[in-house]
Amino acid sequence: MKKNLTVFFSVCCLQVLGQKNLVHENWHGKIDAALYLVKQYEPVLFEQTVRQAYIQLSDCAKQGMAAFATKDYRFQETIEWIMIDVDQADKKSIKNLASLIVHEALHLNRWGHGDTGKTWGTMTPQERDQEHTYIFNYQLSFLKKIGANKSDISYYVYLMTSLGLPIYK
Ligand SMILES: [Zn+2]
Repeated sequence: MKKNLTVFFSVCCLQVLGQKNLVHENWHGKIDAALYLVKQYEPVLFEQTVRQAYIQLSDCAKQGMAAFATKDYRFQETIEWIMIDVDQADKKSIKNLASLIVHEALHLNRWGHGDTGKTWGTMTPQERDQEHTYIFNYQLSFLKKIGANKSDISYYVYLMTSLGLPIYK
């Protein structure tokens, strides 16, 4: 019975969000809750970018990342992915996960479509820093807007400082 309810809940959320959420059902509740927060507080970003992307969990920590975004371009079609580290999905708060989704969606928004245009792999270190300055500052404002814990906010302040990225006042 409990399993049926979980499946029902997952299907409901999927329909409401229209989201290509490919994460295993064990994490659906948490990732869907994070997606709802993004939809509520960043409706334009959600409609234009997040809804189009496939959300998946992966072993991103092996590459030293909490999450990453990527675009596949095949047969004249661009497929966008937001990959979240499975440990982050387990341990981080829903608000923190929502901010990770916002971060990665902003990358997808700024990169070119198709096989032209810049993506992370073709950017210079300086261009990457510029992009991350904009994105991390956006992420910080998002965390404040949704009332995230002080520890979540101070983690990103620490991360930006250690990456040498300026923080907007
Ligand atoms: Zn990034």
